[in-house]
Order: sequence, then C-alpha cells, then structure tokens
Amino acid sequence: MSPFIAKLILVIGAISWFVIRLPHQKRSWKTQTRINQRTTREKLLLTCSFTGLGIIPFLYVAFGVPRFANYAFQPILAWLGTLVFVASLWLFYRVHKELGRNWSDSLEVREQHRLVTDGLYHYVRHPMYTAFFMWALAQALLLPNWIAGPAGLVGFGILFLLRVGREEAMMLESFGEEYRAYMARTARLIPHIY
Ligand code: SAH
Repeated sequence: MSPFIAKLILVIGAISWFVIRLPHQKRSWKTQTRINQRTTREKLLLTCSFTGLGIIPFLYVAFGVPRFANYAFQPILAWLGTLVFVASLWLFYRVHKELGRNWSDSLEVREQHRLVTDGLYHYVRHPMYTAFFMWALAQALLLPNWIAGPAGLVGFGILFLLRVGREEAMMLESFGEEYRAYMARTARLIPHIY
C-alpha cells in the first residue's frame, strides 16, 4: 500500500457510492412528498457534509493541499481504511435497498411513506448515517493529512448532530406511537451502544 493507492481507493470508493446512489436519487426526484423540510438550514448542512467528504479530500487528492498538515503515511491505517470503506459501501447498498422509495437525501416524508423497521432497521434507526460515519472514518484512515483526513468526520458529524433530532421529530409527527415504540427498542447508529 502506497499513499497513491490509498488516494485511489478513496476515489474509487466515492465513485462506487455515487453509482449505488444514482438510481435511488433519480427515483426520488419522481416520488411525491407529503412533508418537505428541505429548508435553507438543511441545504447548509448538506453543503457542510459535501465539503468535508467531497471538496476538501478532492483538493488533497488532486493538488496535495494543505501540505503543512501532512504526516507520515502508515500502510496499516490505509489497509484498515480500505476495509472500513468496503464495509460502508456494502451498508449503503443494503440500506438503500431496504429504504427503497422512502429514501430522501433531505428531510422529507413521501406520499404512501412506509416506516421501515426490519432488516438493518431492526438494529438501528439510522444505518445510512452509520454508513456515512464509516466512510468518513475510512477517509481519516486513508489520507495522512490532519485536515483532509478528519474533514469528513467534522462535515458529516455536523450534519448528523444538527439533523438527527429534527428527523426523529418529523418521523414522530408522521408515524406517532409506531415510531415512538420503534425509537424505544432501537439505538441510533450502533446496536445497543448509541
Ligand atoms: N436516517 C435514516 C434515513 C436517512 S434518509 C438512516 O440513516 O438510515 C432520510 C429520510 O429517510 C428521511 O427524510 C425520512 O423520511 C426517511 N426515514 C428515516 N427513517 C426511516 C424509517 N425507519 N423508515 C422509513 N423512512 C425513514
């Protein structure tokens, strides 16, 4: 494993994620929504996540900046990052399949929205956010740079922290007791832990 291969793995991972998501994104544009909370705040949070997981690592991979924050490359960390990225892509694939047409990249409830509580949703109520955190962790392990590496954890972390409460409130508003009971028996990101 070399620094170049580690960067290549990050790029291939990001492209694979895009390919997994594309058919769902296209379908979501055509699916009617009943509740739409795609506010300016939401758009800013999405931009924040895109900056940390997309723009900053892109600048590092393409131009090697910011150079002052580089540290010595550790192959073992990059191997670990590769494993975490592969696992996160598998999770993205599964979760997109399970959520189906109920998925949205923002806070929306569809016409005929079904509350999914089986499959991976049996264990945690935000498995897609778990997958994003794993991607962000993989980025930190693959890029030997104190800014470009952790940028994904910071960017996605901000989106998660400022969105998750609102998402759960929206689901409670739509599904009432059914979602309250679902919340009581599931963790948010890691089964039994958080
Ligand atoms: N937070 C979830 C879903 C992310 S996609 C996860 O991390 O897996 C965001 C959209 O998913 C929200 O707009 C909401 O309408 C929908 N959603 C969230 N949890 C859901 C569930 N259990 N069943 C169906 N739709 C859900």
